[in-house]
Amino acid sequence: MAAKIQTSFCLPSFSIPRKKPYSNQFTISASKSISGRKLRAAVIGGGPAGSSAAEALASGGVETFLFERNPPSVAKPCGGAIPLCMLEEFDIPHHLIDRHVTRMRIFSPSNIAVDFGKTLKPDEFIAMLRREVLDSFLRSRAHAAGATAVSGLVTGLDLPAATNAPYIVHYTANGSSRRSLSVDVVIGADGANSRVAKAIGAGEYACAMAFQERIKLPDEKMAHYENLAEMYVGEDVSPDFYAWVFPKCDHVAVGTGTVRSKKAIKVYQRGIRERVNSKINGGKVIKVEAHPIPEHPRPIRVKGRVALVGDAAGYVTKCSGEGIYFAAKSGRVCGNAVVKASEGGERMIHEADLRREYLKPWDADYVSTFRFLDLLQRVFYGSNACREALVELCGDEYVQRMTFDSYLYKKLARGRVWDDAHLFFNTVGSLVRSNVLHTRMETFIL
Ligand SMILES: Cc1cc2nc3c(=O)[nH]c(=O)nc-3n(C[C@H](O)[C@H](O)[C@H](O)COP(=O)(O)OP(=O)(O)OC[C@H]3O[C@@H](n4cnc5c(N)ncnc54)[C@H](O)[C@@H]3O)c2cc1C
Repeated sequence: MAAKIQTSFCLPSFSIPRKKPYSNQFTISASKSISGRKLRAAVIGGGPAGSSAAEALASGGVETFLFERNPPSVAKPCGGAIPLCMLEEFDIPHHLIDRHVTRMRIFSPSNIAVDFGKTLKPDEFIAMLRREVLDSFLRSRAHAAGATAVSGLVTGLDLPAATNAPYIVHYTANGSSRRSLSVDVVIGADGANSRVAKAIGAGEYACAMAFQERIKLPDEKMAHYENLAEMYVGEDVSPDFYAWVFPKCDHVAVGTGTVRSKKAIKVYQRGIRERVNSKINGGKVIKVEAHPIPEHPRPIRVKGRVALVGDAAGYVTKCSGEGIYFAAKSGRVCGNAVVKASEGGERMIHEADLRREYLKPWDADYVSTFRFLDLLQRVFYGSNACREALVELCGDEYVQRMTFDSYLYKKLARGRVWDDAHLFFNTVGSLVRSNVLHTRMETFIL
């Protein structure tokens, strides 16, 4: 297979109706600090987090600038799987979807395969999109809502010297000319290597490294992945994550990730290639991509009038590595928070406003989801024996229904007491059969 870095894909066309001009629905309490003008916000990064934040800000009456360094054809390295609830919540048109995945198959270290989509209802599926398509759409919608597009790389951020003084965003436009813009509020949506996070001293987070090859398959092999996504677990493909084959418009994305052994990522990529060899041989690698995935939120997500959202904040779930929905949702929650606290862009906001209107509701809604998936990753990705137990459990219809309900609708599904007890005994049984509990007991006794 010949590798070629970067390939261009054609983007489907879409038209976005321009929103009605902002109508003021807030009680205005004039503040001297910005009287006679609107609150000004810079959103750094035009991924799902930034575009959703910019759309909320502009629709709510804040003067908004959306900075993005890349042209629309450049895709963020990503699997592109999004949950069903995102289509409705973010009004994403169905013609942007490449594949409707209704079958998931998970393979254990010993290659036992379990089908994982048996409980899906006829209208339920996982949507697979190309990121260049999704991101272009969300960006266009932010612009249609009134956000000004700034094509350029943000190179620095000066913090204000006094309480209500502006932040200065430095950027290079068109690759050369240096410019700056004064703003009242900054939203850092600039991904895992966030410069905004560095500028405010938000602290570091642990990252996984994900590696992915896009492989164009002969038609008969592509037919196998028509509506099927595969996940593989085992020491050969990752010491602490899973490897995947996801179907895209006219190719598959084959990849893996790891936190513990980033330097060995290519060894694990060889591992997944070997496992799926019979299904992908004859294919042609059309793109190779790698990118960090945050493992947990940053120590600081709000400082002064700066807020971090999406990957910049660290909102990717463990176990599944899912971040698109949480990026878009956190951007929207944060944008709405600024609109509410500024009373539609009429008054200055402060750190306490961002904490109260953005961080507090966000944490109340999602901290338990993130903690639960963290726990699952630690229990089930720890050794090959645990992974065998995980795959065995995935065969249980109750587990499948709870998992898909939680994933597709982004709510921790509520179970029934009897079924939960049954699940508990099944989990213990799977771990015992896989020799995990036995080994743990021996370690304990010794
Ligand atoms: C290989 C891989 C596979 C994945 N698969 C999935 C999946 O299937 N499903 C899922 O839900 N999640 C997946 N994720 C995670 C998902 O990609 C991220 O969580 C998501 O993209 C976060 O969105 P974001 O808007 O916060 O950041 P990003 O998507 O990273 O967007 C940041 C934007 O900011 C721009 N930018 C950065 N710095 C600057 C700067 N200085 N100036 C101007 N612009 C700047 C970038 O160009 C980019 O457009 C995957 C991640 C990887 C690496």
